[in-house]
Amino acid sequence: MQKIRDFILGFKSFQDIYFCREGSPFQELRSGQAPSTLVVACCDSRTDPSLIMQCEPGDIFVVRNIANIVPPYEPDPGRHGVSAALEYAVLSLEVQDIIILGHSSCGGIRALLDGSARDGEFVGPWISILDSARNQVLKNFDPSDEKAATALEMAGVLTSMENLLTFPWLAERVTQGKLTIHGWYFDMACGQLFSYLPQTRSFEPLAPRCPPRKDMVDVT
Ligand SMILES: [Zn+2]
Repeated sequence: MQKIRDFILGFKSFQDIYFCREGSPFQELRSGQAPSTLVVACCDSRTDPSLIMQCEPGDIFVVRNIANIVPPYEPDPGRHGVSAALEYAVLSLEVQDIIILGHSSCGGIRALLDGSARDGEFVGPWISILDSARNQVLKNFDPSDEKAATALEMAGVLTSMENLLTFPWLAERVTQGKLTIHGWYFDMACGQLFSYLPQTRSFEPLAPRCPPRKDMVDVT
């Protein structure tokens, strides 16, 4: 309960900052949103994209799931939460950028590597979207090797970037130059944010403090 009390106190200060003071952003935002960017992030409690990127309300449209995965385009009657968020962000909000935000120490990726989620009802089938990336990584690393986790976290970002392009209306906007896809990786061990550069096929630091990560595995 202590934490719940803290959250209510937190909301009170949010009220003061964002609603009560003159010129608060919600004076404008209460009539609608126009975020420029969609972020696909993990559910992990340490990887809140608004906090990491110090965003203001209204800046980013966010969909979070286990291991920050974008599934492939599957236009069947299934209940596709991530695909629905993509559709709304791209076709209604017309975002100009999509960021896939991977991260270090991802429990979902760890479960995929060691097979521990296989017996679950929902996590296993969900993360199996990255099975082919997992198989690629395991050609180079032992599953217990920490480098395997890092490589699969990064390979998962690339798989999701590729899956985005299987949505025809999304791919069309990328081809038209109206939409750009970014693959980012938050390393919480060194407090760094990396971006995938296709030219070097590596993740390079966006706010240089650490050396480039060369240990990702190509899944193309
Ligand atoms: Zn995660």
